[in-house]
Amino acid sequence: MDDSLYNKTLTCPACKKTIEVTKVKTKACIVSSHDTDFFVIYKGINPMFYDAWVCEFCGYAALSERFEKLGINDAKKVSTAITTFWKSRKFTGERNVDAALEAYKLALYNLIKIGGPPSDFAKLNIRLAWLYRIKQDNKEMDFLKSALKNYTESYDKEKFPIGKFDECTCMYMIAELNRRIGNYNEAITWFSKLISSPEAKNNKMLLENARDQYHLTKELAIS
Ligand SMILES: [Zn+2]
Repeated sequence: MDDSLYNKTLTCPACKKTIEVTKVKTKACIVSSHDTDFFVIYKGINPMFYDAWVCEFCGYAALSERFEKLGINDAKKVSTAITTFWKSRKFTGERNVDAALEAYKLALYNLIKIGGPPSDFAKLNIRLAWLYRIKQDNKEMDFLKSALKNYTESYDKEKFPIGKFDECTCMYMIAELNRRIGNYNEAITWFSKLISSPEAKNNKMLLENARDQYHLTKELAIS
């Protein structure tokens, strides 16, 4: 295994077996640049590839931050809806983009079966879109559309902040994803709403990005 990677041992909260997941050493993560929807481009190893954890024994999969927070009732849902159909296979070790896509799709399938807030669905759908962007595959658009639906639902229904995710960032994502899928008028409406909101003044970088993207969208809309 690449020496920037290491395995961590934990108990699967669904089947209670001892499992291993592969993580990336922090010092190996070198940021090269950011896309306008917060997709981070790394030099060398991409830690996003390793952020969807899978239990090889029962098929439970989730983002690392959520993985160990599975309640008893949700563990039962995994057992009946996932494990029954699961063929044991390993997900540890080095991952390429296709292996990452498989792990993220399993995490999404688990979340559909278990249920969760729209912000959790958004996290998976936007990452699936980014993985397809790396592959330069048009399926990126399908996942951007799903993520946009999730962010819009999250904005309407959830209480902010959700961890580090605040209301302004949610508005920015709704605006930027609308721009990326070609809904320029919707994007302009959301960028304007964000720029004029009093909360945005506390986040200078986001406000600056929103202004840049607002002008870019205006140009795209008339060309
Ligand atoms: Zn398990």
